[in-house]
Amino acid sequence: MAAPGLMDKLVSLCKRRGFVFQSSEIYGGLGSVWDYGPLGTELKRNIKDRWWHSMVRARDDIEGLDAAILMHPKVWEASGHVSGFTDPLVDCKTCKSRFRADKLEDAQCPQKPSKHPGEHSTCQLTEPRMFNLMFKTFMGPVEESASVVYLRPETAQGIYVNYLNVLQSSRQKIPFGIAQIGKAFRNEITPGNFIFRTREFEQMEMQYFVKPGEDAEWFERWRVLRMAWHQELGLKPEKLRWHQHAQNELAHYARAAYDIEYEFPFGWQEIEGVHNRGNFDLTNHQNASGKKLEYFDQAANSRYLPEIVETSAGADRVTLTVMVDAYREEVVEGETRTVLGFNPSIAPIKVAVLPLVNKDAMPEMATALFNDLRPRFACFYDDGGAIGRRYRRMDEVGTPFCITVDGQSAEDQSVTVRHRDTMGQERVAITQVAAYLAERIVP
Ligand code: ATP
Repeated sequence: MAAPGLMDKLVSLCKRRGFVFQSSEIYGGLGSVWDYGPLGTELKRNIKDRWWHSMVRARDDIEGLDAAILMHPKVWEASGHVSGFTDPLVDCKTCKSRFRADKLEDAQCPQKPSKHPGEHSTCQLTEPRMFNLMFKTFMGPVEESASVVYLRPETAQGIYVNYLNVLQSSRQKIPFGIAQIGKAFRNEITPGNFIFRTREFEQMEMQYFVKPGEDAEWFERWRVLRMAWHQELGLKPEKLRWHQHAQNELAHYARAAYDIEYEFPFGWQEIEGVHNRGNFDLTNHQNASGKKLEYFDQAANSRYLPEIVETSAGADRVTLTVMVDAYREEVVEGETRTVLGFNPSIAPIKVAVLPLVNKDAMPEMATALFNDLRPRFACFYDDGGAIGRRYRRMDEVGTPFCITVDGQSAEDQSVTVRHRDTMGQERVAITQVAAYLAERIVP
């Protein structure tokens, strides 16, 4: 049997250590829907917090928003999603499977040996037809067409329809942006690759409103900032690249679009899109709602519809990316250790506190230190098993620092700090531990 690939190992680690579980697993799972366990929740939250900090808190020109998932159905008519948010779908009359016509090379025919759809002599693919990706449901007690609402397929529209509310209440001036993190839903035809493409996911989106004619300049600025963000997250620069959308790839709303791609074990794939949307969205909402959405530029005494530059990243996709990027195996003294070498600022556990043995006042000292550190760092206390095994367990979930209270600790009030990546150890005075960690876990 072939050795398991990186994705198989990661999926199994995620389940074993509580990062990600299959949704409704006891009922056989629900297609391409996943749940985050204790460590996965922390990891994803840290990524979202980092994004929020750099987009909203650290800037004067971007405001936050948390719009509802359900919106007036006319929003999705005006945005073009009812008519245009479709993927081409083909059915196979032989195996009864469905595939995205434009992604056949990424799909697997269920027949053996493993091949792409259409490559077996028995495959019978239909002509492509368009399939709308929005989930529909009904609002209120009556299931009729008048009460159809959609689960939003992107968070952006909540920003556009609120842009004047935010502008006026925050007293911003153009150029300014609105950022939002929230769930989106897409009835993907061929989801897959673990949490890469799912039917329910979270987006981290920012829409930047600019004066007409300044869109191209801001588009370039945001491209630079967004690539830098991914690099600062710790992703290997050689695994990141730009993909420019050719004219025939451009979405219905875009003037220009670039994707930030990462090289996954299953190929180069988009993790974030940076789009120049022009005034497409505001024009459509203004026309469909009959409400003026123009900005009044006091200094120039003129009115205009702003143009929009969008940055749109998937929180789940970025979470998968950091796990793939951080995963490594090393042979140490004849044994393989698995390490998730996360940037310390996003590691789900920052510090593990470990009494070397459960006697000689070590547990008491370790507990006191643990309680001391806990308000400031995500900490974990572990007194179970040999110290080497405890270190390995922490390596596998990406904990950058392990602090061991040992026999010497009671004598000189010091502990051992053990580093995840180098496995190097150094002695630090107990009173200095918090400052030592703060210096190395830079947000
Ligand atoms: P793709 O071509 O992979 O379907 P897209 O071009 O439709 O993606 P956008 O609409 O630009 O994606 O969405 C912005 C971001 O949202 C993507 O870069 C991705 O990180 C995330 N995203 C989109 N669809 C999904 C999904 N089904 N599952 C997880 N994340 C997604």
